Amino acid sequence: MVLYEMARDAMKLLQKSDNIELIQKLMDIQKESLEMFEENIRLKAEIRAFNEVKTLDEDLEFRDNCFFKISNGEGPFCITCWGKDRKLIRMQIADDFALCNVCKTGTCFTNE
Ligand SMILES: [Zn+2]
Repeated sequence: MVLYEMARDAMKLLQKSDNIELIQKLMDIQKESLEMFEENIRLKAEIRAFNEVKTLDEDLEFRDNCFFKISNGEGPFCITCWGKDRKLIRMQIADDFALCNVCKTGTCFTNE
């Protein structure tokens, strides 16, 4: 945001000079720097979301046609929902069968 503030300060100085062309140029720079600032925020959020998915992905172990978290053993999670949407959906277990209530993927489940 420093660039934007520098342009704003320069604008205040320029407005005293009555140089319309220079004021317009500085307004363009100010607008461009604000757009860069907003894009920077958006890109940082994208990187953070990507890293969260990557960290979670590295914590998943494939077993019994399901995913389990290596770190704490949680699971089973649906491989279809993770592969398609990167959503970690807990599967319901009934006897030796695990079912995803979101995409309806089902699999035999031995939990060994
Ligand atoms: Zn699913």
